[in-house]
Amino acid sequence: MAEKYDPVAVETKWQKRWDETRLYNVDIEGADAPFYNLMMYPYPSAEGLHVGNVYAFTGADIHGRFKQLQGHTVFEPIGFDAFGIHSENFALELGVHPMELIPRNIENFTRQLKRMGFMYDWDRAVDVTRPEYYKWTQWIFLQLYKGGLAERRQAPVNWCPSCKTVLANEQVIDGRCERCSTEVTQRFLDQWFFKITDYAQRLLDNLEWIDWSESTKRLQRNWIGRSEGADIDFQIIGHPDKKLRVFTTRPDTLFGATFMVLAPEHPYVARISTDAQRAAVDEYVKNALAMDVVERRKAGEEREKSGVDTGAKAINPVTNEEISIWVADYVLMEYGWGAIMGVPAHDERDFDFATQYGLPIRIVVIPADQYEGFDPSAKLEAAFTEHTEDEVLVNSGKFDGVPAARAIKEITGWLAEQGRGAHAVNYRIHDWCISRQRYWGPPIPVIHCDKDGIVPVPEEDLPVTLPFVENFRPDESGVGPLARSAEFINVECPKCGGPAKRETDVSDTFLDSAWYFMRYPSTDRHDVPFDVERTKKWLPVDMYIGGEEHAVLHLMYSRFITMALHDLGHLPFEEPYHKFRKHGLIIREGAKMSKSRGNVVIPDEFVEKYGADAFRTYLMFLGPYEEGGDFREQGIAGISRFFDRVWDAVAGGELGDEPPETDELNQKLHATVKKVTADIAGLQYNTAIAAMMEYLNAARAGGRAARRSEVEPLVAMIAPFAPHLAEELWERLGYKESIFAGASWPTYDEKLALADQVDIAVQVNGRLRATIRAQRGASEAQVKQAALDEEAVQRHMDGMEVVKTVFVPDRLINLVVK
Ligand SMILES: [Zn+2]
Ligand SMILES: [Zn+2]
Repeated sequence: MAEKYDPVAVETKWQKRWDETRLYNVDIEGADAPFYNLMMYPYPSAEGLHVGNVYAFTGADIHGRFKQLQGHTVFEPIGFDAFGIHSENFALELGVHPMELIPRNIENFTRQLKRMGFMYDWDRAVDVTRPEYYKWTQWIFLQLYKGGLAERRQAPVNWCPSCKTVLANEQVIDGRCERCSTEVTQRFLDQWFFKITDYAQRLLDNLEWIDWSESTKRLQRNWIGRSEGADIDFQIIGHPDKKLRVFTTRPDTLFGATFMVLAPEHPYVARISTDAQRAAVDEYVKNALAMDVVERRKAGEEREKSGVDTGAKAINPVTNEEISIWVADYVLMEYGWGAIMGVPAHDERDFDFATQYGLPIRIVVIPADQYEGFDPSAKLEAAFTEHTEDEVLVNSGKFDGVPAARAIKEITGWLAEQGRGAHAVNYRIHDWCISRQRYWGPPIPVIHCDKDGIVPVPEEDLPVTLPFVENFRPDESGVGPLARSAEFINVECPKCGGPAKRETDVSDTFLDSAWYFMRYPSTDRHDVPFDVERTKKWLPVDMYIGGEEHAVLHLMYSRFITMALHDLGHLPFEEPYHKFRKHGLIIREGAKMSKSRGNVVIPDEFVEKYGADAFRTYLMFLGPYEEGGDFREQGIAGISRFFDRVWDAVAGGELGDEPPETDELNQKLHATVKKVTADIAGLQYNTAIAAMMEYLNAARAGGRAARRSEVEPLVAMIAPFAPHLAEELWERLGYKESIFAGASWPTYDEKLALADQVDIAVQVNGRLRATIRAQRGASEAQVKQAALDEEAVQRHMDGMEVVKTVFVPDRLINLVVK
């Protein structure tokens, strides 16, 4: 009786062997054909490795192992994103200090990750909470500060009342805190900002050439939110020194601007309000500022608007009319200049506002075919906002009859000539607020001196070590817990030597992750953040795989930091990741996984029961990796059976040395190698697995014993998915060296691969309508799908349904339709 496949025994053996032989520890300086395979490092929660982590990492690990088998030296590092609110909230919840909790979590994560058999170079693991790491996070802050890209300023910021900290705009989802879902409010606080807006256009332009998932690029484009139009200056009557600047995408509607509206925070509000209106304006502004961000954004969407007249008037630069200046909460300081020109005929919100307050409404753009006989005093029932190709101006003086597209250029040009405006580009993206009034992060390395103001900590004094603060719970004060450590905050000013105070804010955890991939190749260097030569050799990252939820956070920030460091002379490239692919998400039995539903897949349980190889492979079998799939426990057994059969075919008996028994089988082998190679390269792991299963069925048809030439390539092909099983079988095939040590990936003969295809006649109701090429042995379902995709077949089905299928394998399919 042949020996049975025991996944746990095999996996234990090979994990130990890999450790001992240091198989995945890369010779960073000596490696040739380097390939940097990166995945998004996890934050080590107390609950341990999430199945979502395993899904993401498995797909990335398969890609890395595939490259390794093809002869690359693959560097696959891992680390822990262990600073930040998420980790800190866990510590608060459990009542354990993060300095105690986090190392414990990391230890647990490390054990779980090792158990999954990922090919990590553990010597180069990074823990961002270690001073040897965050010393360089602080160094990066200093470089940006010196480069004029970091700035402290008072600003309305998003404040989470539950997390008791500010949030970046990117961390506010639908007006709620991304971490705890509490509604976010506004606060005015001194904050540190990175000027990512200086890079808005470049961040946008480079999307044209970087090889990323299209949907991720789209999310970034939307977030950057470029719009083109004009800045227009309006004179304010009685204030010759002040001009009210607005940004509009529709300068062609300027003749229809019949009022102006300022955001309640606009600095002019208090200065231009007339005495008669001052009390009303003050009251309105006070109420508006007390509203939280959610309500403010809602104010823009609701029909009912609120506002107050400042009593001041501006002059419309093209009509020279006096128009009133209002304050209303639907105008946000964060868009444009915090002021708008009200064009009620062509903007819904302005229309609602004008209707409510009895402000004039004037149509200025209409469809060209309505131009003849247009009545200039026509009334509108609703704003006319449709923007078609064929529009012309009316009620617009010398621009009457001019097509809108041309009017945009001409009016902008006229404004520019008059010194009253200019072509302008506006971006939705805002500067990145990086300060957090929390404990668990790298202290921002600056010192406040009464005499010298803000003084950066000298680089040689880094790191500014995060002190142990017993009570690290944040409070309402808006001042971080570091202020509670007298020992920490009181310091000598590096400039004048006088008494000074350290900054008590820590930096956003997204700053830690904005550069971690630069650190991996240089973890053993304590004199530099990243070694120049190694960086040149390994970066930019060759393949980065991660979740799309990071499209506008981590992925945008790391691009910005890379560009900034490039411009400051520290990096030879400006984009961090050559290639990025997002992975899909998995659900369980049709439902989203969540703790409250109690349906979360706990990786440890499955690994114990089926082994890591089966768990890994099953996760990849659920669906296309970039789309995700539905986890059902019974499905994993199918993978286990497949592995039993692979084991049985290789380890179960004597393997002859002859070539594949038949031409058909040989052709099938080459076709399978071709398909699996292409599928893995394209992250189509599910179809690669299906092709290998099918091939094994063919090789063992009728229960025949397989030959070595038939199964050895299969062992190599399963290696990225089931690395332990593949190693064991490789050894049993007589190889002394690890399958991952050489270029073991099988090659194929194109001609043979194509020979495994057959022509299949496709009939509709018994009449030949098409011929399709399919893989020999393709199933009825596969052939039927391919047939239905044929245009000629669709034409002859004429909307009817297939009621019956007649299938002759490799020859014919007849679709009976009614
Ligand atoms: Zn929160
Ligand atoms: Zn000083």
